[in-house]
Amino acid sequence: MKDAIVIGGGLAGLATAAALGSQGFQVELFEAKPFLGGRATSYSIPLGDGQEEEIDNCQHILLKCCVNLLDFYRRMGVVEGIEFHREFYFMEPGGRTSSLRRGILPAPLHFAESFLRATWLTFGEKLALGRAMLALRLERRSRKDLDQISMLYWLKEKKQPARLIERFWRQVLLSAINVELDQMAAAHGFQVMWLGFMAASDTYEMGIPKVRLGQLYRGGIENVVQRERASVEAFHPERGVLVAGEWVTGKVYISAVPSDRLARLVPQLPIDYNAFEPSSITGIHLWFDRPVTTMPHGTLLDRNIQWFYNKGEGRYLMLVVSASEQMLKMQRQEIIDLAMGELVEFLPAVAAATLIKAHVVKEAKATFRAKPGLEAKRPLSRTSIPNLFLAGDWTRSGWPATMEGAVRSGYLAAEAVSEYLGRPARFLIPDLS
Ligand SMILES: Cc1cc2nc3c(=O)[nH]c(=O)nc-3n(C[C@H](O)[C@H](O)[C@H](O)COP(=O)(O)OP(=O)(O)OC[C@H]3O[C@@H](n4cnc5c(N)ncnc54)[C@H](O)[C@@H]3O)c2cc1C
Repeated sequence: MKDAIVIGGGLAGLATAAALGSQGFQVELFEAKPFLGGRATSYSIPLGDGQEEEIDNCQHILLKCCVNLLDFYRRMGVVEGIEFHREFYFMEPGGRTSSLRRGILPAPLHFAESFLRATWLTFGEKLALGRAMLALRLERRSRKDLDQISMLYWLKEKKQPARLIERFWRQVLLSAINVELDQMAAAHGFQVMWLGFMAASDTYEMGIPKVRLGQLYRGGIENVVQRERASVEAFHPERGVLVAGEWVTGKVYISAVPSDRLARLVPQLPIDYNAFEPSSITGIHLWFDRPVTTMPHGTLLDRNIQWFYNKGEGRYLMLVVSASEQMLKMQRQEIIDLAMGELVEFLPAVAAATLIKAHVVKEAKATFRAKPGLEAKRPLSRTSIPNLFLAGDWTRSGWPATMEGAVRSGYLAAEAVSEYLGRPARFLIPDLS
């Protein structure tokens, strides 16, 4: 009998398995799909001429403050596969671009030079931003209602101009938390701004995998047997998990599946599953007949498309739209036309290029909505069933739905399991204070 059975091979399940495996616990992991990585993965699509291309489900980026995710990549031996970028490019329609990068001043003033030079904000907006950043620094510890109010409420309280909210706060936070500012608990907005942009001068650096996401999980994990195409059909505390018609028994079970899957597998848990509403992300992959940019990435202001990433020599671009509910009803071609119409405003070379192929991925349930009041409803690792533990980005990881949140939840579950099995261990790396 294995020590631990993990249900789900996304980042949360893999992190749980890697942590337990590193302590000598024998683990078996069941993943329903033919590949690991869950939402943060890649797969092959046909290119039309009999060839296939492996694409990421969507561009996934991390910041250097994602210390547990980086620790997980180290455990998997793939941390070298992440390349850090020290510049963000804010692009205005017409193509004018300002970069945000660390200057000579220490944190939290390290962006002062970049903001002073930025063309996309007026002087008044820059002053207002400075005031709000100062307030954020002061209020992040003292204020007790940050989980009860929305980020927009707080920004309005701080009298942030509408254009600054749109061009800076929404642009940055929507990409990080995937929910509009009026539905985002201020606590999450504070966390992203503090950890990513203020706590230290390098935590903002953006990590982009140099390889396709799926390649990060192919090395195998010590003491872990990984079963793919192995969907868990039922769970019973004594009999175990039902996979392909057979019960598999372990000492403990860790569910690392999304909330709606757990609701079907273990409906008796006292969790308010309805509180976890989905929020969508749309990814648009475009292949051109020639390079259309030399930039590695850019965030596009005042339009629907929020980011582009250069995935291959300027010919293959991936565009991202967070909180993209409006796109769920749109036809594929409508989305491509919209994307092309907007992209050419920022990258003029698009006008002369021919689009060879496009692929649209609408992820309707990309993340949960990190709304005010939700934090208290996110379940902890331990459950009312003593040998069942929970992981997953939607559980109470201390972070919104991100890869870092998923890994944190996995480490927290592994800590609870190791204690239950009588060999307590610590895996979670604390955030910068
Ligand atoms: C389009 C998109 C873009 C994103 N961009 C970013 C980003 O840039 N940065 C970032 O940090 N985060 C990003 N995220 C969020 C991030 O991908 C998730 O928060 C994280 O991957 C969730 O991991 P998880 O392990 O909790 O869940 P999942 O990845 O959903 O893993 C759950 C796994 O369980 C499996 N499973 C389900 N039911 C069963 C069953 N019955 N039996 C066996 N297996 C089962 C599923 O197949 C899946 O593999 C993005 C998400 C999406 C969708």
